[in-house]
Amino acid sequence: MRVLITGGAGFLGSHLTDRFLSEGHEVIAMDNLITGTTDNIAHLAGHPRFMFIKHDVTNYIYVDGPLDAILHFASPASPIDYLELPIQTLKVGALGTHKALGLAKAKGARFLLASTSEVYGDPQVHPQPESYYGHVNPVGPRGVYDEAKRFAEAMTMAYHNYHGLDTRIVRIFNTYGPRMRLRDGRVVPNFIQQALKNEPLTVYGDGSQTRSFQYVSDLVEGVYRLLFSDEVEPVNIGNPGEFTIREFADVVIKLTGSKSPIVYKDLRTRDDPQVRQPDIAKARRVLGWEPLVSLEAGLEQTIPWFREELRRRGEL
Ligand code: UDP
Repeated sequence: MRVLITGGAGFLGSHLTDRFLSEGHEVIAMDNLITGTTDNIAHLAGHPRFMFIKHDVTNYIYVDGPLDAILHFASPASPIDYLELPIQTLKVGALGTHKALGLAKAKGARFLLASTSEVYGDPQVHPQPESYYGHVNPVGPRGVYDEAKRFAEAMTMAYHNYHGLDTRIVRIFNTYGPRMRLRDGRVVPNFIQQALKNEPLTVYGDGSQTRSFQYVSDLVEGVYRLLFSDEVEPVNIGNPGEFTIREFADVVIKLTGSKSPIVYKDLRTRDDPQVRQPDIAKARRVLGWEPLVSLEAGLEQTIPWFREELRRRGEL
């Protein structure tokens, strides 16, 4: 297959690129590099089945030749990124999705949208099945991301229903692993770096809010299976192992052998979901998929990567 991955130089996009190449496909990675980096794809330079195009997908997308699939993964994805880039976040979810869908239609390609657990907002149903409509504040700090992704889902279904486009929607829950941006502000990079530097771990609020963390290889497997499945309706891909942020801080301190204390910081302005846990019954049923990597095993892969990265930058 010849596959276009938007956001191909990002954390998830670059891991997906690796997977598709290792399966023998041809990959075109497209990225405007505002949150992605060519460091994530540098190891692919000169690969005969790989090509990189620097382009902002909110503008008309031109790709020469046939395409069999488009995976639309371009978007700022961490809360501080979309607070800093609110307009770009809305544009890539709305205009970028429209452009990528238009390209899929023109090429007769299958289209897969990277959606998010954020479509559930601060959920009042726990854990969250795909049938839950969500509880989102459109004008809150996360609204730019949540509503862009909700619009993107609606647009994807409209292309499916109106144009008969072959589409897939994955709702991705918190995912971590090597190549997360050091400064993206999310809890995994923050805590690991703080622990490695023996600095205080910054828990926002009282740390009783929960998240369910999935290792990147599980996400990649789920997306790969979804693309080749027949499932058009959204599918949650995440690890149901749920931890409070305080528990997560303890795990990171233990696995890094750190001497860091925990400090508590004000949470009020963040519109932070209080709980989050995927219901993955559907992924089990329609994809035969479930996560295989435990939090400890995933962190054992991730911590050395951060250590190496910090040393390379002279920060450790
Ligand atoms: N968080 C924290 N300390 C940090 C960064 C994040 O306590 O240094 C909390 C954050 O308030 C949220 C959770 O960790 O409750 C996950 O935050 P993240 O930014 O990773 O992603 P989210 O799931 O909120 O989109």
